Amino acid sequence: MTIAIYPGSFDPITKGHLDILKTGAEVFDKVIIAVAHNSEKKGFLPTDVRVQLIKESVTHLENVEVDSFEGLTIEYAKKRGAKVLIRGLRAVSDFEYELQLSQANSALSEDIKTVFLTTKPKYNFISSSTIKEIYLNNGDISKFVPAPVYDYLLKRKVC
Ligand code: ADP
Repeated sequence: MTIAIYPGSFDPITKGHLDILKTGAEVFDKVIIAVAHNSEKKGFLPTDVRVQLIKESVTHLENVEVDSFEGLTIEYAKKRGAKVLIRGLRAVSDFEYELQLSQANSALSEDIKTVFLTTKPKYNFISSSTIKEIYLNNGDISKFVPAPVYDYLLKRKVC
């Protein structure tokens, strides 16, 4: 059984993330989508809210678990018995950072491999930061985020 971890900030989860996750769940036996908690960095949404919104957004994906972790992704992957890290690529601009990150992770543990996935073109440009920008300027984000995120942000004006 191949377990893959999809780590990230997911602040908040977007339809781009979900598309990557769906593909990951088709390719691997189990995918753990894990919110990286950084106690030194105040995010847009608290970690527990991000986790909850992901849980509500992935109920249709049976082999997906939602979790959070603190510290090194590779240590978390080892603890969970995962052999694969999933990362997404949008544009060439993502590539340099993602390549460095994957090389650093393989230097820390050769057994855990990073796999890069891409989204459908219609989700390719979506990022959490673009969504925050649109939302904070009262734009319509309904096309870019799953319904639970939209409902949460609509009800609670987060800033
Ligand atoms: P991080 O802070 O770790 O980059 P993010 O939540 O921003 O966390 O992203 C997690 C992963 O998902 C990253 O590998 C990122 O490149 C990927 N990703 C985010 N949005 C998209 C998208 N629209 N298409 C493809 N990959 C994406």
